[in-house]
Amino acid sequence: MEQVDFVAIGCGPYNLGLMALSERTRLTGVCFEQRDAFVWHEGMLLEAATMQTHYLYDLVTLADPTNRHSYLNYLKREGRLQTFIVQENPTIPRAEFNRYLTSVAERLETIRFSSRVIDVEADRDGFIVTVKSNEETTRVHARHVVIGTGAEPLVPEAFEDVVHTSAYRMERDRLLAEDKLVVIGSGQSAAEVYLDLLRRARTGQSVDWVTRSDVFESLESGKLGEEIFSLAYVDYFNGLPLEERLKLGESFERFRNGVNPETLRDVYGTLYHRTADGSDQATELLTQIEIERVARTGTGYRVEGTNQHTGATFQQTYGAVIAATGYSPIIPDWVKRFPIKWEAERKWCVNARYEIKVEEELSGKLFTHTNLEHSHGPAATNLGMAVYRNAIMLNEMAGETLYEVSGQKPFTTF
Ligand SMILES: Cc1cc2nc3c(=O)[nH]c(=O)nc-3n(C[C@H](O)[C@H](O)[C@H](O)COP(=O)(O)OP(=O)(O)OC[C@H]3O[C@@H](n4cnc5c(N)ncnc54)[C@H](O)[C@@H]3O)c2cc1C
Repeated sequence: MEQVDFVAIGCGPYNLGLMALSERTRLTGVCFEQRDAFVWHEGMLLEAATMQTHYLYDLVTLADPTNRHSYLNYLKREGRLQTFIVQENPTIPRAEFNRYLTSVAERLETIRFSSRVIDVEADRDGFIVTVKSNEETTRVHARHVVIGTGAEPLVPEAFEDVVHTSAYRMERDRLLAEDKLVVIGSGQSAAEVYLDLLRRARTGQSVDWVTRSDVFESLESGKLGEEIFSLAYVDYFNGLPLEERLKLGESFERFRNGVNPETLRDVYGTLYHRTADGSDQATELLTQIEIERVARTGTGYRVEGTNQHTGATFQQTYGAVIAATGYSPIIPDWVKRFPIKWEAERKWCVNARYEIKVEEELSGKLFTHTNLEHSHGPAATNLGMAVYRNAIMLNEMAGETLYEVSGQKPFTTF
């Protein structure tokens, strides 16, 4: 049986960064990915979409700026370094970041595609990981395991047969054939899809946007506020009781779920242009309405909801419904085999070193990138913070400091 220091499960950007940083260390590792090739949020690779984070929050720079898998090195290889400098914008297209991630995945020999991890068991000296690749099943022995299974679309049960934003680009042509569409939700994905539809809409075609929020809120990006994306804040957050962490999670909604101010500006500008010739905007923006049900009718969908404040009923019929209703972490079934400490339903205990806590000691460590929002706060789903996380995990696995990250201090004291 193949023996490695660690197995990483799932090749999204977080485990991809882990493999990139581990390349320069003595640790041996392999990453299994069920897809046949790398792709990052394919359904949201929209032409105008940009990253929400600075380009230096790539896979490696915060831990190892000289690493060959940096974004700058990618630009140099592509012959785009100078044009990138001249355009003077640290906010890069999402499609280009996807190309960067793909090129790193192609350069790393430790990633195995078309390989789905179907089981993990403990043994005397770590874990045995079972992998299904096409029709073949193999087993690998690993000292440690890193879960990076990501998240799956979250659609309320009462929403019948809607298109989730994660599938938007693949479904776009079909959606645009309808005369009346609605986007439900008000986070970044909702805004991007609404804007994309609005820009493509034919004269007279209507695209509505509905949210239960009081306003279409923008993302908080104040300089000092951004310091919640720091190791100091993550450690502070991780040390609080669950109740406090959950309360904080709610109060940080604007740091995580608001819309990029530029996207909101583009939406406003597009609406303004559409109505400049005196024509009707043919689109309704509706706030404070909680959508409770989407039901298929013979020709389309009946959408029903309630105004959060007046109690008034909302009812409309649409040809297509797009749900921007978020994601839910994928917790693999095999974790049931382990005596994991749970803080609440689906909320495992994870220490400051990203190790899942267990009731009885295991011979290896179970690390996770997935399902960390309750334990590590808003930084749990931030690309830059994932670099620190990977450095910390590798240091833990090696039992020594491979990457020094603790010296990075914010101005705020937490
Ligand atoms: C549209 C969108 C844009 C975003 N933009 C930004 C941004 O600009 N900046 C930022 O900081 N964050 C952003 N995020 C948030 C976050 O950084 C990303 O969601 C990121 O992709 C999470 O990475 P991941 O590695 O956890 O998971 P994913 O990217 O979801 O990857 C998980 C992988 O695991 C694989 N997998 C699952 N189970 C198994 C198994 N059993 N065996 C093998 N493989 C398996 C899946 O096939 C998948 O490829 C964005 C999120 C979305 C939805």
